[in-house]
Amino acid sequence: MSAVWAAEGLVAGVPAGSVVRSAVFQLSVPSDAPDQTSCPRCAAPAPRWFVIRCGHCGQHFGTLGALELATAVVLGLLFGRFGGQPDMLAFCFLGALGVALAAIDLSVQRLPDRLVLPAYPVTIVLLAFAALIGHTEGDLGRALLGGLVLGGIYLTLALLRPGGIGGGDIKLAGLAGLALGWLGWPTLLAGAALGFMLSAGVSLVLIAARRLTLQSMISFGPFLLAGALLATLAGAR
Ligand SMILES: [Zn+2]
Repeated sequence: MSAVWAAEGLVAGVPAGSVVRSAVFQLSVPSDAPDQTSCPRCAAPAPRWFVIRCGHCGQHFGTLGALELATAVVLGLLFGRFGGQPDMLAFCFLGALGVALAAIDLSVQRLPDRLVLPAYPVTIVLLAFAALIGHTEGDLGRALLGGLVLGGIYLTLALLRPGGIGGGDIKLAGLAGLALGWLGWPTLLAGAALGFMLSAGVSLVLIAARRLTLQSMISFGPFLLAGALLATLAGAR
C-alpha cells in the first residue's frame, strides 16, 4: 500500500463523491418511477450537481458528507493498492460506481440498469487499455471469463432459490467478476465467498437483534460490493 497514492486517492474521492451524490439522489427512486429531480419536501427543483441541500426550503439531501467520505475512503484504498499501475483507472471507476450502487440499493433495494449496464463496456475498455499498456492480454481474457463465471454463479443461485437474488444482483455480479477475474481466480473466489459470508454474518446479527426475521429480505448488492472490494485490496498480483 503506497501512502502517497492513498493520500491522492482520498483527495480525488471528494469531487468524485460529489458526482456519486448526484447519481444517488437522482436514482434513489422505485424502479418504475421517474428520476428524482426535485426536493422531496417542497418539490422545488434540485440542483443537478452538488445536491447537498434544497435552495428553497433548506432541506438536506441525505447525510451531509457521508457519500463524499465513503468515496474518498474507497478511492484512497484503491489508489494505495494500485498506485499508478495501468489497471488503477478501471478499479477506481468501479470503486466510485460501487459506492453509488451500494447507497441506492440500501435506500430503495435496487441496482439501476442505467448505472450497471454501461459500466460493462467502460470497464472492458479500461481493462483492455491496461492490458495493452502492461502487455497482459491473458489477464483480459481471464477478466471476461470471470464476469461470465460470477454472473453464472448468481444466475444459478437465483434459479435455485427464486426471490433471494434479484436480476440486479446477477448483472452486478457479472461486473464484479470482470474486475475480480482480472486479478486472478483466487481473488474471484475470495470476493464471491466474502460477499456471501458478510451477508450471512450481518443477517444473523440483525436477526439476533430482532431487527430482521428469517423471512425478511436485505439488499445483497452492498455485500457483493464489499466482498469484491476486500478481495481486491487483499489480492496480490
Ligand atoms: Zn425543498
